[in-house]
Amino acid sequence: MRLITLRTQALEVIQRWKKQYPNPDRERAEVQKKLEALDLTTALPKDIENIIGNNSWCCKIECDECNEYFDNVLQINEKSEYHTRYICLQCIKKALELFETEKEKCHYL
Ligand SMILES: [Zn+2]
Repeated sequence: MRLITLRTQALEVIQRWKKQYPNPDRERAEVQKKLEALDLTTALPKDIENIIGNNSWCCKIECDECNEYFDNVLQINEKSEYHTRYICLQCIKKALELFETEKEKCHYL
């Protein structure tokens, strides 16, 4: 599992772009060059959106439990492209409460 934030998305955008477009056409190569010229340690999501042309590369992520969108989520099972899940902090807190309030169910007879 790992934490995904707007900053981690920004820092990894070039790596993800290269993975998505391993043989870029001229336009995508140009986008990559512009991304590489950006200081991703300080870039805002809007800066990345302006270069790529959409906001899907650095954006709030939907929690798979409550379906709300968050800047920061925990990614679970990240090695699986199709079975990865995103969980927000409030749902993780609810999960911890469940373990606590229903702990008697955790012990077998
Ligand atoms: Zn949630």
